[in-house]
Amino acid sequence: MARWGFTVDLERCVGCMGCVIACKAENGTPPSIHWMKVVEKEEGEYPYAKRIFTPLRCNHCADAPCARSCPTGAIVKRPDGIVDRVVCKLSGTEPSNWCKGGEYTEIFAADQLPLPPGQDLIRRMRIDLWTGLQASDACTGPSEEELVLNVNDEWARKWLGTGDGREWLDSQGLPRDPYFAPERECRAGDPQPVIALDLHDGQLITQPVIEIRGSAYAEEGFRRWRLDYGFGGSPDSWIGLAERSDPIQSGTLHIWNLSEVPNGPVTLRMTLVDIAWGGVLCAVVTYVAVLVDRWS
Ligand code: SF4
Ligand code: SF4
Repeated sequence: MARWGFTVDLERCVGCMGCVIACKAENGTPPSIHWMKVVEKEEGEYPYAKRIFTPLRCNHCADAPCARSCPTGAIVKRPDGIVDRVVCKLSGTEPSNWCKGGEYTEIFAADQLPLPPGQDLIRRMRIDLWTGLQASDACTGPSEEELVLNVNDEWARKWLGTGDGREWLDSQGLPRDPYFAPERECRAGDPQPVIALDLHDGQLITQPVIEIRGSAYAEEGFRRWRLDYGFGGSPDSWIGLAERSDPIQSGTLHIWNLSEVPNGPVTLRMTLVDIAWGGVLCAVVTYVAVLVDRWS
């Protein structure tokens, strides 16, 4: 039965034929029969010509004399428990869809395999926008899919903020100000924001003055809220209506005098800002598109 797992290093083979002799001595093959062969080939031209030796073995013996007799270590039997795995060049994990730098095959101990693709340097993850943690079913606030850098080490994060670190990020085509993967998922009990307007999409506004009611608060980490409006369905710029640092629970957010607002579609933007989580500024935003038509 053939035995797999031998490696042959052609750079190390010097063509001494020790392996050929060892095989013949072990197996007593007739003069013209060689189970072990070393193919010779000449390459290049004088004065740069060289001979290439390629040992060809039958892989028959478990404890092969051809390998044992090799004085240069050109034939080596791979120890048990070694496996090949394709890994991402930059991270050393199994490649994800965002693997950088290409892939290559590396050998690993069978009980120390590379990390799975989900631990690649770049990960796509849904982030809970209020806490900055990985979103989960336990948290009901708004969340967004983000590409994050899977770097947890504090010193590595600091280095990425230095000139050298930024240069490296540039060289890898990564953003200079990366979003780092959060340490954990959002859990029940983590504070969540409440942000709501009593207006709804498509609502027709016919009064010259309206009271905008709603909620803007959080169980923890609340800093301030801000209400803006802009013209059209996706405004290019925003005009401030109100900005306050006191939380509102089902109360008046603003009395809006529309005398200066022309008829037509208007979008309201409500932003709730928090600064409590690891120094990272988090904000949740809600939009409502209404139609102003004070003459209808
Ligand atoms: S494994 Fe090596 S020593 Fe054994 S029969 Fe094959 S070539 Fe000869
Ligand atoms: S494989 Fe080893 S023993 Fe065989 S010819 Fe090459 S150097 Fe010599």
